[in-house]
Amino acid sequence: MNQKLHEKEKTLFVNCPKCRKLVEWATSSFRPFCSKRCQTLDQAGWASEEYQISSLPDESPPSEDIN
Ligand SMILES: [Zn+2]
Repeated sequence: MNQKLHEKEKTLFVNCPKCRKLVEWATSSFRPFCSKRCQTLDQAGWASEEYQISSLPDESPPSEDIN
């Protein structure tokens, strides 16, 4: 019996194609993007090549509300 298929179930991180931010693949809902913002921006970028991502307010939404 040799069932050593995937012993390395480490957390996979990818870089957001948009802002190069490190994204946790397993938990990101917008992978490979870090946020919906980047996802939307990227999709918008396909439509118009002149997207401007000069200075967006980097407000990170509260991901969890642990009490
Ligand atoms: Zn991003």
